[in-house]
Amino acid sequence: MIEMKTRQELTTWIKKQKQLGSTIGFVPTMGFLHEGHLSLVEQAKKKADIVVMSIFVNPLQFGEGEDYESYPRDHDRDKELADSHGVDVLFSPGVEEMYPRPMSTTLVVHEGTDVLCGQSRPGHFNGVATVVLKLLQITSADYAYFGLKDAQQVAIIQRMVEDFHLATEIIPIDIVRESDGLAKSSRNVNLNLEERQEAPEIYSCLKDASRKTQNGDFTNSTDLEDWVRLQLQKKLTGKIDYVQVLEFPSLKAPKQLEGKILLATAVYYKRARLIDNIVIEIKG
Ligand code: AMP
Repeated sequence: MIEMKTRQELTTWIKKQKQLGSTIGFVPTMGFLHEGHLSLVEQAKKKADIVVMSIFVNPLQFGEGEDYESYPRDHDRDKELADSHGVDVLFSPGVEEMYPRPMSTTLVVHEGTDVLCGQSRPGHFNGVATVVLKLLQITSADYAYFGLKDAQQVAIIQRMVEDFHLATEIIPIDIVRESDGLAKSSRNVNLNLEERQEAPEIYSCLKDASRKTQNGDFTNSTDLEDWVRLQLQKKLTGKIDYVQVLEFPSLKAPKQLEGKILLATAVYYKRARLIDNIVIEIKG
């Protein structure tokens, strides 16, 4: 594995590889790697000739009072994991490299930001879209891999790629979980013991809700949301940020519980905010 820290190095190297006919699979991350990130690498390796992973904690997508400073970082460990899982190039720029001067142009996401994490993290997806556009430009990726743990991000990035007629194909990848069901996340290390013990209840509740929805137990999305909120309130000490049911990937409020439905939640703990979701396919 080669590590590169500058745009210049990476773009020059990629240009050569493309001239030789290689395709590029790109896995953007904020580091502190776990099996969720590595499953994106695994999929990229199946399809692309070269796998480029970026590690960049993007200040632009963190709001005031959010965890930019305390976001977990361990570069040496990440480097080892990326190398041993077959990443060809690790792109790990500093903030100065990605933002050499304040941006005079940034993206504003107009759709799909008034729901889920967009509601509690104003400006977050503008920061995400801006950095992803920069990274896709730098990597000239043929394919870019995004985890469905961040389902809203997948939907927004997919539309951004369409909006700007980008040549990259966005490939969504299923959520990887701990053996007790908790969605793997870099932020899980910021849970205390008690929080870590109760956190698997989040997915357990989403699964129960999915089963009940398939059984026709709920007549509309509000009933489903209310039921999940009540269950989570009973089982968790964490504070529920949202429980929301939306059509996926349009992120529109569903008129009926029909088709592809995203049931998503976010829970605040003392030092971490956890998100999780389940996609429910309902035949009309
Ligand atoms: P992050 O480093 O948290 O920004 O995540 C980088 C990429 O990995 C994003 O596309 C995430 O959706 C994806 N990812 C994070 N956790 C998981 C997981 N548990 N399963 C699958 N993908 C994940």
